[in-house]
Amino acid sequence: MVKEYACRQCKTLTTGKVCPNCHSTDLTSEWFGLVIILDTEHSQVAKVLDIKVPGRYALKVT
Ligand SMILES: [Zn+2]
Repeated sequence: MVKEYACRQCKTLTTGKVCPNCHSTDLTSEWFGLVIILDTEHSQVAKVLDIKVPGRYALKVT
């Protein structure tokens, strides 16, 4: 399994060195929980986490 990193700024998960969402390089391998958001408009989870773009996110970033 490929190691994934979570962005500390927006919690987006990525296997690269730069966040594909906010282009931050502030990534960490220390993250917990996986949230997959498919529909940001109708998802309560997306509202709570303040996620605007569909994708895969970490629930908690340390
Ligand atoms: Zn980001």
